[in-house]
Amino acid sequence: MHGHELSPSTIAVGAGRPDRVPGGPLNAPITLASALVPGGGSEYGRQGNPTWDSFEAVLGALEGGRALAFSSGVAASAALFDLVPIGAAVVAPRHAYYGTIAQLVERDRRGQVELRLVDIDDTEQVITACQGAALVWIESPTNPALEIADIAAIARAATQAGAAVAVDNTFATPLRQKPLELGADFVVHSASKLLSGHSDVILGAIVTDDDRAFAALEKRRTVLGAIPGAMETWLAVRGMRTLHVRLDRAEANAVELHRRLSASRHVTYSRYPGFGTIIAFEVAAGPAAAQKMTEQSDVITYATSLGGVESTWERRRRHPGEPESVPEGLIRLSVGIEDVEDLWIDIQNVLAAVS
Ligand SMILES: *Cc1c(COP(=O)(O)O)cnc(C)c1O
Repeated sequence: MHGHELSPSTIAVGAGRPDRVPGGPLNAPITLASALVPGGGSEYGRQGNPTWDSFEAVLGALEGGRALAFSSGVAASAALFDLVPIGAAVVAPRHAYYGTIAQLVERDRRGQVELRLVDIDDTEQVITACQGAALVWIESPTNPALEIADIAAIARAATQAGAAVAVDNTFATPLRQKPLELGADFVVHSASKLLSGHSDVILGAIVTDDDRAFAALEKRRTVLGAIPGAMETWLAVRGMRTLHVRLDRAEANAVELHRRLSASRHVTYSRYPGFGTIIAFEVAAGPAAAQKMTEQSDVITYATSLGGVESTWERRRRHPGEPESVPEGLIRLSVGIEDVEDLWIDIQNVLAAVS
């Protein structure tokens, strides 16, 4: 019909809509249902819901696979870890999201998996660890260290070694990185972040192009009941309609703020991987000053989480669960879509006040 492949922006806006019928809505409605009429895909609300379908269609089309929505990002990763054979080795980044590491450490302690932690930006080290492993978990960029993995090279080596490859694509989104095209078997998302984009949803997802794995994961979701709410998936679809516009704007802001932070004499370093909306930096005045400054900002909100339209920041080590390898003073700044000059003035004011 179109004669050419649609761009991600057009997919974000148009995928997952109901069939066009006279008098029908343009958007999938919020379907609140525990029971559905038999004969379709789902007849009980734990098996499926039409509003999930809409979310899954948009995300699947953007990532190039079939998507499954879960109640949260960690519920999605747990469903995937459940597929790892008992006792098998799992390779994961030392600096992966701490909720991911916590799950794997717990499974390792129980003898369910053998956890091999690696520096994900050291490709040789990762490839060596892949040997004999069942699953290689990649997060790139990592949260909050912002390390970058060579996904294609790791996926190639892991596949040769017989290991499945999963990529946590939360920070990059399918608009900046498509792991399935790079050779991964699974893409995992915390849709609570950039995909939803308005800090009002907890939601996760897995995308795969492997039909057998898809069926196994879908079964896991039904058995465990790690299912999303209709409202959450509806909000996430609404958010994804503007993902490309939000991302472009927040990214442009992040590029500029990183440039200015790097040049500031009050800042020891600013780290930014060149794409995405997250900056990690430290201030010369130290961790206590970093804590104070994040609490005193006016435009930027002092809060955890990331990927919303509003800029947020926090000193990551204020969370007791954050690994000690994350510097005590590291501030993770999630850049939003506000005016960049207003953001910079806010940063300059609090930097000057604590320096
Ligand atoms: C937030 C986050 C998760 C966990 O997702 P939830 O939706 O909070 O369960 C996983 N990975 C990354 C990179 C995250 O930022």
